[in-house]
Formats: sequence, structure tokens, C-alpha cells
Amino acid sequence: MSSANLPEIKFTNTQTQKKEVFKTQVPGVVRFYSCGPTVYDKIHIGNLRSALVADLIYRYLTHVGYDVQYVRNYTDVDDRIIKKAGDQKRTSDQVSSEFIQEVEKDYAVSGVLDPKFKPKATEYVSKMVAFIEGLVSKGSAYEVKGEVFYSVDTFEDYGKLSRQKFDDLEAGHRVEVKSQKKNPLDFSLWKPAKPGEPSWDSPWGKGRPGWHIECSVMAQEILGDQIDLHHGGEDLIFPHHENEIAQSEAATGKKPFARMWLHHAFLTLSKEKMSKSLGNVFTARDFLTKFGGEVARYLLLSVHYRSRLDFSVDSLNQTLQSLERIYEAKKKALEITQLKTRFPDTRAESLWASFVMQVDGASKDIAAHFAYDLNTPGALASVFVVIREFNRILSEPKTQGTPAAILASQALIRLIEEDVGSVLGIGRLLPEKALEQFNGIRSQLSASDKVKLDGSEIEKRIAERNQARRDKDFKRSDEIRDELLAEGVDLLDGPSGTSWKYR
Ligand SMILES: [Zn+2]
Repeated sequence: MSSANLPEIKFTNTQTQKKEVFKTQVPGVVRFYSCGPTVYDKIHIGNLRSALVADLIYRYLTHVGYDVQYVRNYTDVDDRIIKKAGDQKRTSDQVSSEFIQEVEKDYAVSGVLDPKFKPKATEYVSKMVAFIEGLVSKGSAYEVKGEVFYSVDTFEDYGKLSRQKFDDLEAGHRVEVKSQKKNPLDFSLWKPAKPGEPSWDSPWGKGRPGWHIECSVMAQEILGDQIDLHHGGEDLIFPHHENEIAQSEAATGKKPFARMWLHHAFLTLSKEKMSKSLGNVFTARDFLTKFGGEVARYLLLSVHYRSRLDFSVDSLNQTLQSLERIYEAKKKALEITQLKTRFPDTRAESLWASFVMQVDGASKDIAAHFAYDLNTPGALASVFVVIREFNRILSEPKTQGTPAAILASQALIRLIEEDVGSVLGIGRLLPEKALEQFNGIRSQLSASDKVKLDGSEIEKRIAERNQARRDKDFKRSDEIRDELLAEGVDLLDGPSGTSWKYR
């Protein structure tokens, strides 16, 4: 692929907070690293946003013609994995392997494309030891009783990504200063093994790597000393990514470690409100089982990646509405391409000719939206303008079944499936199937709308039931339980009284 045809792309670089032109070290090749999950449990819907934003970046850069060397790691050594393994009398390896499989199922259902490289941290421990040795010999790290710390005072740029003042940070952390650290901000590169924990040999005794060092080492081993693009959630800016920069730039002496840093914003949700109307949908698995991958992708990607995403019943309803508009238009367009053509109608031909020009314009707009910091809402808005015009023309007499109508319909299908669909990973299902699925979700939603009892009303009924039980009126107490059950409320009688939950 010639790099001459690549579009000019601007991304918001976290480090400068400015939109910058994206330039790679090797023309046409992107060295891309995205921080992957710690595999100790099923992933949350918020973690799915991370995987989908990385997938969006990957799909987009591939779509415009880059060769994307894409790495997404698995953190498979971690306190939470070790704790779960201990609790369940299993090895850390068994726990992490189980959840790598689980997370990959969720990714597959969400249409997350496989990265070129999916390294596991434990496969790189010897490289991490060598990397840390390098930092110690340079004076960037020091050992205290089998633990190795990075010395942030030796790295003058510390704080450059999160744009924080070093002195403020230091002062703020003074209270929790650990005595063996030279500076409270110094972080662990190597931790001594506690009994029963997974451990590896090192010059500092048996131990395991800290979290931050993993990504510096895997990025360097697979992509090289300097990478073009690094992505993660905004919660990783400090300290994780700040520390990656400090480690990598100190070790290689090359700046910058990453040319461009992209961070997506949090997903927020009101658990209480959501449970009430949707039940539990906070793990990606629950969500995907109920609503499917297409809905997940649209919901999580139709909001700009740097905007906070409020996941609510409203946002779910809006998602359904938008997807239905897209698939209804696609269905209609596909039907038109199957119609027997009749003689051209002058008026219809001219309407469709101007429509095709509009589609061309939208196609350029969409490309421009994506190239400008992955403006997904802008790109989708352009599609909806075209769909509205398509429906308007169809509502006029004698506009179907002409040669121009077929060409116009094909142009619309391309816009949906290629211009937007191949980047967002939506719009590519068979319309009948997709619409049937959305219908099913709608009936689930309207059924759950009937759960309208609020907490204080439920408490009132529980009190009534308690009274009935004290009065030994078990018929009445059972009635109240059944009434609540019919309203979607489960009662749980325990030693400390009766609690309840929405089903
Ligand atoms: Zn990382």
C-alpha cells in the first residue's frame, strides 16, 4: 500500500491536549499499543468500551490503508488473580486462562477484531528482568530488600503526560510514604514473592514484575523502542502511562516512547436505576446476552471516545431507534435493487441523480469526520441526513423500480456498509435479522417498564407482611410475597430481616 494516498489524520494527544497531525515513524505503518484487561474476572461494560475504542482505532487506520501492528496485552499476573486463585485453591495460571477465554468470547460477540499480537505478561518475565537490570545499572532504579523501585527523581520529565506538577504530587503523598522508598512516587518494578505466590528468579531473589513494567517491555519487544500510538482509558494516564514513559525513555534514551497518546473517557451509569429497569447488565456478558453485539457497538461507539458516556435506558432506546433507522433504510434499498426495472422516469431520474451526488458528499464528510479525532457522532449524523433524503424521495410517486433508483440504493448500501460500517463495525447484518432482534429487545424493555414499584413502596409492603406474619396470618403474608413477585420483586428472608431485589 502506498502511503501517498493516506489521509491527514488528527488525534487529540493527551500529552498536549491538542489535536495533532498523526505521523508514523515508518510511512504507512502504525505501531499501536493498547493496554488490555487484567484477567481475574468477567469484564465490565466499561472495559468493553476500552476494547471497542481500540477496535475502532484499528479498524479506522486499516480502513484508510495503514498496516497496523496492533498489540493488546493480557495482564495475567496481579494481586486480584493471585487472591482468586488462593480462594479457589487453583493456580494463577488456571484463573487467568479461564478469564482470557471468557473475555475473548465477549470480544467475539462484540465484533472486536483480533489484534496482531496478544502477549501475556507472564511470557515476558525474563525480558522484564533484563529491562529492570538495565534501569538499575543506569541509576534509574534501586533495590531495597528484594524489591526494585523506579526512582522518579532521576527522570526529569516525570509528570509530562498527566501534566501534573511534581512537587504538588510529592507533598500530597507524603502521609503515606513507605519508608524504603526514596520518593513516595517511586513505584515498584519488581516485587519480592510472598509464600505461595507465582514467582520467577531474578538478581534480587524470587519475585514478580510490577504492573507498569509489563507494558513497557511488551511494547519494546514487539514494536520496538518507540511506538506511534498508545491507547488506554483515562484512568490509566496516571500513574500507569506516566510510568511507562519514565521506564521506556530512561531505558532506551529515546524520546518520545509514544508519539501519540489517546485516552477514552469513562462510562458512567446509575446502577440502581438500571437494575430496576434492565436487571443486571453490568458485565459485558450480561449486556451482550440481552442486547447483542451490534447494539453494544452502536451504544459504545456512537458517543465520541473522549466524552463521558452515560449508559442509561434512554441511551439504549436511542441506540435502538438509530439502528432501526439504518436497517430499515438498508432493507428498503436492498428491496429496490431486486425490483424489476421499468422505463426511466425523467423526474425520478433527476431526483436520484442528485441523491447519488449527496451520497458522494456524505462519503467525503464521513471520511473527514473520522480523520478529525475519530468523530463518530459526526459520521453517523451524515448518514442520517442521507437516509432522511432517501426516505423522502421514496415517499414520492413513481420513484422506485427505475434504473437510477437501483444505482442510488446501491450507493446508500455502500455508504452504510463500507464508509461507516467497516469503521464502526455496524450495519453489516441482514436487515430482517437485525430488525427482528431489535424488536425482541424492545419487547423486553417494555415488559421491564412495568417494574415501577419504588423502594419505599416495597418497604411498606414488607412491613405489612411482617405484621401479617406476627399475626400468624400466613395466607396474607404469602399473598404479599406473590404480589411483589408479580411486580418483579424478589424477597429474601434472612436472620436480620427481609431484604429485596429487583429481578
Ligand atoms: Zn499498560
